[in-house]
Amino acid sequence: MLAAVVRNFHEPIRIEEVDIPEPGEGQVRVKIETSGLCHTDIHAAKGDWPIKPKLPFIPGHEGIGIVEAVGKGVKGIKEGDRVALPWLGYACGMCEYCNSGWETLCESQLNTGYSIDGTHAEYAIGYAKHIAKVPDGVSPLDAAPLTCAGVTTYKAVKMSGARPSDLVAIFGIGGLGHLALQYAKVAGAAVVAVDLFDEKLKLAKELGADYVVNARTQDPVEEIKKLGGADAAISVAVAPKAFEQAFYSLRRGGRLVFVALPADNHVKLPIFETVLNGIQVIGSIVGTRTDLEETFQLHAARRTKVVSETRHLHQVHEAFEEVEKAQAKARLVFKL
Ligand code: NAD
Ligand code: ZN
Ligand code: ZN
Repeated sequence: MLAAVVRNFHEPIRIEEVDIPEPGEGQVRVKIETSGLCHTDIHAAKGDWPIKPKLPFIPGHEGIGIVEAVGKGVKGIKEGDRVALPWLGYACGMCEYCNSGWETLCESQLNTGYSIDGTHAEYAIGYAKHIAKVPDGVSPLDAAPLTCAGVTTYKAVKMSGARPSDLVAIFGIGGLGHLALQYAKVAGAAVVAVDLFDEKLKLAKELGADYVVNARTQDPVEEIKKLGGADAAISVAVAPKAFEQAFYSLRRGGRLVFVALPADNHVKLPIFETVLNGIQVIGSIVGTRTDLEETFQLHAARRTKVVSETRHLHQVHEAFEEVEKAQAKARLVFKL
C-alpha cells in the first residue's frame, strides 16, 4: 500500500510502498477514504515535542474509512462500517482516568500517527474500542477534520465554560480555530477571532465571528480590552506569543485554555495578575469518544461547517509546507 512515512526528523516526509497491516486481537483494518492534515502531524514529523514518536512512522489521526477486516474479539464494529480513527488510538479502560470519563489522560494510551502508525496511508489499523462510527449525514470529507480539529475544539470550548453572555477570543483561525469559533457560537457566546492573515479573518467572519483582529497590524490585547475583555480565550495558534496575548486579553475571572502545542514550549505569565484577577489556566487535550460522538451529531444536525480542500497523498510534502506557512484554507484533507 502507499503510505506517507517519516524516517527521521530532518528529512521531508515521503511516500513509500509498505505492507498492508494485519489486524490483531481487538483491532480492525480500515481502508482509508480521507485523512485530514493536522498541524500535530508536522510537529510529529519534526520531532518538535518533549516526547518523540518512534521512527519510522506513518502520521495522520483524522482518518476516515471503511472497515474491511476484523480481528479476534472485536464487538460492535463490522466489515463495511464507516469509522473514524482519532488521536486517542487506545486507552487501557481500567485506570481511574479511563473510568471517570477522562480516557484522554490514560497513562497507557497509544496515539494514532505517533506511537502507532496513522492514517496518511491506504490502510490503517485501529483498536475497535477506540474508533468511532461515522453517522449517516456526515460525509467522509467533513468527518476527517471533525475527528481531531472538531472534537478537540468542541472539548476546549466546553472546558472554557463559554456561556451565552460571554465574549470568547479564539487565537489562530486554522484547522482547529475555524471550528473552535463555531462551537463558541453554538454555546451562545460572542466571538472575537485573532489571526495574522486577513484571509483567515475573512473566513472567520463568514463562519460567524462577531469581531476580528489582525495581530500583525493591531494589538489584540488592546482591541479585545476595548470590547470589555474576554471571558474566555482559547489559544490554537502555534506561537507562545499568542498564548500571552490571550492571557492579557482576559477580563477578571477569565479562563485561558491552552490547546496549541508549539515547538517553543514555554510562555511567561505573571503570578500577581493571575491571582488578583482570579484567572484560570486550563490545558485541554483532544476529546473523549463521547465528545467525538457529540461533535459528529452537531455536524449531522447542520450546526457546524467544515472548510477544507483536498490533496492527493503524493502531495504530502507540499501539503505539510502549506500548513506550516499558514497558506492552507482551514483544513487540508488527503483523499485516498
Ligand atoms: P493550523 O496551522 O491549521 O492553524 C494555526 C493558525 O494559527 C494559523 O491560521 C496561523 O495563521 C495562526 N497563527 C500563527 N501564529 C499566530 C499568532 N501569533 N497569532 C494569531 N494566530 C496565529 O494548525 P492546527 O491544525 O489548527 O493546530 C493548531 C495547534 O494545535 C498545533 O500546535 C497542534 O499540534 C495543536 N493541537 C492540539 C490538540 C490538543 O489536543 N491540545 C489537538 C490538535 C492539535
Ligand atoms: Zn490533531
Ligand atoms: Zn487508562
